[in-house]
Amino acid sequence: MEGEKKEMHEEEKKRISMQRAAELKDTIADYQEALKTIPTGFNNWERIQATQERFRTFFKASEDDWNSWRWQLKNRVTRPEVLKELLPMDSKELEEITKTGSEYRWAVSPYYLSLIDPDEPDDPVKLQCIPSIHEYIDQGGYDDPMGEEFTSPVEAITRRYADRLIIKVTNQCAMYCRHCQRRRGIGEKDLATPREQLQEAVDYVRANKEVRDVLLTGGDGFMIDNQTISWLLDELSSIPHLEMKRFGSRTPVTIPQRIDDELCEILSRHLPVYVNTHFNHPLEVTPASREACFKLARAGVGLGNQAVLLKGVNNDPFIMRKLNQELLRIMVRPYYIFHAKAVKGTTHFRTKIEEGIEIMEKLRGFTTGLAIPTFVVNAPRGMGKIPLLPEYLVSMGKDYIKIRTWENRIMHYDNK
Ligand SMILES: *Cc1c(COP(=O)(O)O)cnc(C)c1O
Repeated sequence: MEGEKKEMHEEEKKRISMQRAAELKDTIADYQEALKTIPTGFNNWERIQATQERFRTFFKASEDDWNSWRWQLKNRVTRPEVLKELLPMDSKELEEITKTGSEYRWAVSPYYLSLIDPDEPDDPVKLQCIPSIHEYIDQGGYDDPMGEEFTSPVEAITRRYADRLIIKVTNQCAMYCRHCQRRRGIGEKDLATPREQLQEAVDYVRANKEVRDVLLTGGDGFMIDNQTISWLLDELSSIPHLEMKRFGSRTPVTIPQRIDDELCEILSRHLPVYVNTHFNHPLEVTPASREACFKLARAGVGLGNQAVLLKGVNNDPFIMRKLNQELLRIMVRPYYIFHAKAVKGTTHFRTKIEEGIEIMEKLRGFTTGLAIPTFVVNAPRGMGKIPLLPEYLVSMGKDYIKIRTWENRIMHYDNK
């Protein structure tokens, strides 16, 4: 009698579990359908490699040339006449690129250019690297919406927090993002921060004992040479109260060749080191990026990603879900999604805040917790990053709360 009852019980449990599993399958069907139309670097790799072959012939470059970051940097495409040989476009578009190029600098590494699907007019990589007439005609926005100029105690430092600060090591980037939020200081001229200014910044950190975390960025933190990085890390590592070093670099996305063995060896000698990079779309996550990120990971470097929410590129919950999943495949932990600020020349990329919140809502529960970054806005006047979240706490009673689950079920939760 007892045994029979237990058996029934087991059967009932099983039935309920099966029902729930079927229900869960329903919550992912729309995503699986959407994936058919989201290009990724992995599933486009054959096309990309064919393009790279073509580019190498055009540049008369050997495989070693192509795999050298110096070569990639030296051969950045900066002129419409060259661009049109590599990426088919009509004369109107070429004219617009020329026009915008007269106002804002542009430069694309052959590698990053090779990711673009020429049959896709709104290709997400193209939108990020090829100048658009929208930049030229942009009437909105400010040059410096964050008031960075007012948070710089010494030339190369931006300090907005008590325990951590930024040292800008250069204003150079491997590619000039069309959505760059630092357009004011980045891109028009390549300027590595002079050694004396770096020394001054190091001295500032040494003199301020509450600073335990330094972020080396720019521009792009990896656009300076390995010797300078080695020297800077040696200097910083000799400061007893400094607990960690971080880099901000988009090179794993735009010139993954930059992550060479020598750089990894230098970084591994100065752990703990963290690198935050800037992938915005799953098409950017390629086998070449994976190689760069795995190298960094093997060197002991912790990897994070800071995406920017960009209209037409990634303002879609499914694209963001896929991006963050692709990042985990290459050992990169999604860290932030930034709301795009009102920077002059970039306002065509701006979204409403609600879109970011909806993306967060459609990540939590729907995918791996590690794939969920924090959505942030930068407070005005350099007052820091502020997280914005969907609300899960519906109401509070005297000894209970009402919560909303990821599937939108309202539930009662004891709080005695
Ligand atoms: C973003 C930022 C940091 C780092 O902030 P975390 O939230 O710790 O990643 C530090 N200083 C400045 C000025 C920043 O803008």
